[in-house]
Amino acid sequence: MNCAKCGAEILEDEVYEHAGETLCEDCYLDVKASPKVCDPWAVYTAKKEAKGRPALTPLQERIVALLKQKGPISLEEICQELGIDEVEFKSNFAPLRHMELARAVKVGKEVKYTTF
Ligand SMILES: [Zn+2]
Repeated sequence: MNCAKCGAEILEDEVYEHAGETLCEDCYLDVKASPKVCDPWAVYTAKKEAKGRPALTPLQERIVALLKQKGPISLEEICQELGIDEVEFKSNFAPLRHMELARAVKVGKEVKYTTF
């Protein structure tokens, strides 16, 4: 028997059912833990990758370090601190968001960025 999500082979006593699908324990817990995630597959994949070797680029590591140190911090401040532009930040922020290392928060009317 194989997991309907990740395709991993599942032992009979580790089979989980969710919404008519047969899932392995990992995928089942993912589904249960994050029912409202927009793209569970991306989160799942990113988490798996994060568990193995850290897949962060040097810039992503700098972003995480900055958010840890100064977050919640605005996009402007991040770009200023790291010398990058908005497009560069957003393309690097997406994988960090999926790995649950960084997230956006609302502070008043402003969107700021911080760590989990
Ligand atoms: Zn699975």
